[in-house]
Amino acid sequence: MKDYSINTKCVQAGYTPSNGEPRQIPIIQSTTFKYDTSEDMGKLFDLEASGYFYTRLQNPTNDHVAAKIAALEGGTAAMLTSSGQAANFFALFNICECGSHIVASSSIYGGTFNLISVTFKKMGIDVTFVSPDASEEELNAAFKHNTRAMFGETIANPALTVLDIEKFAKAAHAHNVPLIVDNTFPTPINCRPIEWCADIVTHSTTKYMDGHGAAVGGAIVDSGNFDWMAHADMYPGLCTPDESYHGITYAEKFGKEGAFITKCTSQLMRDLGCIQSPQNAFILNLGLESLHVRMPRHVENGQAVAEFLENHPKVEYVSYPGLKSNKYYETAKKYMPNGGCGVVSFEIKGGKEAAEKFLKNLKLAAIETHVADARTCCLNPATSTHRQLNDEQLKEAGVPAGLIRISCGLEDKKDLIADISAALDTI
Ligand code: PLP
Repeated sequence: MKDYSINTKCVQAGYTPSNGEPRQIPIIQSTTFKYDTSEDMGKLFDLEASGYFYTRLQNPTNDHVAAKIAALEGGTAAMLTSSGQAANFFALFNICECGSHIVASSSIYGGTFNLISVTFKKMGIDVTFVSPDASEEELNAAFKHNTRAMFGETIANPALTVLDIEKFAKAAHAHNVPLIVDNTFPTPINCRPIEWCADIVTHSTTKYMDGHGAAVGGAIVDSGNFDWMAHADMYPGLCTPDESYHGITYAEKFGKEGAFITKCTSQLMRDLGCIQSPQNAFILNLGLESLHVRMPRHVENGQAVAEFLENHPKVEYVSYPGLKSNKYYETAKKYMPNGGCGVVSFEIKGGKEAAEKFLKNLKLAAIETHVADARTCCLNPATSTHRQLNDEQLKEAGVPAGLIRISCGLEDKKDLIADISAALDTI
């Protein structure tokens, strides 16, 4: 599959049936796997042989789909998790422990922000947030002797800031730590962070990868480029013997191509669970088979809606990296020449009341907390995710009362614009 285009990989990578085998990836709906001798099974427990023994750690359906995602991102290994939250938790916790420190972009999904700033803090893992627009000097100043990872989102949800991946990777590598990039919004169709020197890529597969609002899931992909052994004192979990696995040293046994995902699977999945169900992995694969066809349409619709809104008298401003007026236009062009995603945010004049009226009068676009679905959906943070804040607090949080996030689906753009236009006319 290596030499095929990404479009072909979307359809066929990760699973090649042999003669007479199912054409579609089989759903292995089994918690466990049978062996003839204890010795055979023992080899799996010792990581001496590869195979399956319990679906909390690994399942063949998941592994086919993970292999496809690794091929799409250009990584050497990948795994599926039960959600995007679990993917980011596992990716960071695989190399951080009590006493570690993370440098993260401040412009990231709220759930990930909470995970890093609240939950990790309780576990003794500290964080310094940096602006996605920070200069090289500012980025370098955020690192400490105990920093073990740098984190950012290619296109941040919901701020739609665009990460300068090369700049972040340069700062991370200057301090001997890997850059982890959440690539949920552009997907590998529009951006492949590993090509820009990111080391590990994560996904909420719940979004465009599934694309049909059908299955919650996540994925972690390793580039195989980060040399853990060169910084062995910083990554003891990968570079010193794991007593819970009979003294295996992951980086030694599996090399830089396989150590990160093998440890994450055999140690963290074993201890914490959070695997994606094989049913969901199957549904995810159906989404992946058309990802390359769907993403250009999401971008086309996002661009058309953003341009329409930018010229509308009832709209205060529009945020979409595909607009020439956008602060991130040039950065987006560099990393995503074919466009980023279909999510657009804009402020409606008239605050919360106008926003509520607008949403109520939409016919095609539904009010949902979701994004990246085939069906257009939208949300007013002030009356939903941020409803506990008053107008003053909303302003401070950079979420004006009239802010609307709209995730453009796969409908015809003319119908979407007509729907939005009619709803704006009611205000
Ligand atoms: N990362 C990003 C960029 C997201 O937008 C989300 C959810 O919206 C997540 C991670 C968390 O993913 P999930 O909802 O699948 O747990």
